[in-house]
Amino acid sequence: MGIDVAPHFGLNDSERIQTELGPLLSEKASILLPSSLGWDQSRSSSPRIEPKFIAIVEVATEEDVQETVKYANRLTIPFLAISGSHGWATTLNNFQGGIQINMRKLNTAEAHADGKTATVGGGMMQYEITESLYRQGKKLAVTGLCGLPHGFAADSLVSARLVLANSSIVTVSATENSDLFWAVRGAGQNFGIVTSFEVKIHDASEDWTMDNNLESQHKKIGMLVMAGLVFRNPELDPEHPVVALQIMSPASNPFAAAYNAAFQKLSPVFHTTVNDIPYEKLFATSAYILESYGRDGVEAVPEGENVAVRATGVEYGERIREATRANEHAYLNYAVGGEGLENVYGERLERLRALKKVWDPENRFGFYIPIR
Ligand SMILES: Cc1cc2nc3c(=O)[nH]c(=O)nc-3n(C[C@H](O)[C@H](O)[C@H](O)COP(=O)(O)OP(=O)(O)OC[C@H]3O[C@@H](n4cnc5c(N)ncnc54)[C@H](O)[C@@H]3O)c2cc1C
Repeated sequence: MGIDVAPHFGLNDSERIQTELGPLLSEKASILLPSSLGWDQSRSSSPRIEPKFIAIVEVATEEDVQETVKYANRLTIPFLAISGSHGWATTLNNFQGGIQINMRKLNTAEAHADGKTATVGGGMMQYEITESLYRQGKKLAVTGLCGLPHGFAADSLVSARLVLANSSIVTVSATENSDLFWAVRGAGQNFGIVTSFEVKIHDASEDWTMDNNLESQHKKIGMLVMAGLVFRNPELDPEHPVVALQIMSPASNPFAAAYNAAFQKLSPVFHTTVNDIPYEKLFATSAYILESYGRDGVEAVPEGENVAVRATGVEYGERIREATRANEHAYLNYAVGGEGLENVYGERLERLRALKKVWDPENRFGFYIPIR
């Protein structure tokens, strides 16, 4: 858990941030207080994640991030960078009464002249990067779809600029602060605020088509993304697997009916509709998801400097498969906080703990599956 709010500094003191920090920020930065028009600290991931802020600083430059961290340190109040508000670790709820450093204004992606890398702002959403680079004739590996041709997003990272807990700025790469570079590639939320990063890019490919077909087998599994569940239910069909598809949407969504109608044409063996579910009840549940991605992109990464990493990856994959049968094991981005650090960070935990003592000894970045 991060440090506590200094007792003298509470919600009523928000205005003080405006007065004291405001003049130190760039022209395009802004500060929102609970009394401001547009104050919104709700999260897109889930209503059960509710960090509490006394001010939101919408930073527009790297120096804004630095000034805000410096200011929060001076007052000994916590700070938390926020980009997409999509993180769903319940440990974020330990953040109570500090400054949100909203990164969304740092949202540019520029391909470099050599066409091999791009510099991306630390508050950019994945779809924005994809759109922006596409307009420049480029694309990059994205998180969550590693089977698409360019491998893991983390392997594409070339360097990053970080504001550290002590408000200094560093560049990390394979040759500069390489220990921190290693940590950032798997546990970045615990080490600094990424203001920008350099990432490998590739020529944009042709447009995609999405066909809503259900097939028992797809020849090139790496290029198919299907949402739903395939399972055995002998009561419904003793011979074949059953495909379950769920469509959830707000009542006002104009497309849901069309999607539903398309699937209805397949004459489902079972169908229910539940209306009027209060939004917060949608997530009052738990789920266990098994996902399988194609491996073409990962296998396409040439052997070389990554040999050791690759061997570890193979071994790690074996262990994950084992874990899904026998033990708990959690992907950091999917972890919700109760899995146990060993299950989230694996054999990297001790090294991360050691690095934490060097780069963030006071655990200022202590809210997202914190490394203790
Ligand atoms: C429905 C759903 C589906 C998801 N699907 C996937 C998936 O397919 N693949 C996948 O990998 N993940 C997935 N996730 C997890 C999600 O992508 C990760 O949790 C990711 O961290 C969210 O990014 P964000 O920018 O929204 O983070 P935020 O919620 O804004 O922040 C999360 C953490 O990152 C820190 N942070 C934010 N910006 C910065 C920055 N610039 N520098 C340093 N730290 C920063 C924050 O301080 C916080 O600790 C999913 C989550 C949900 C809710």
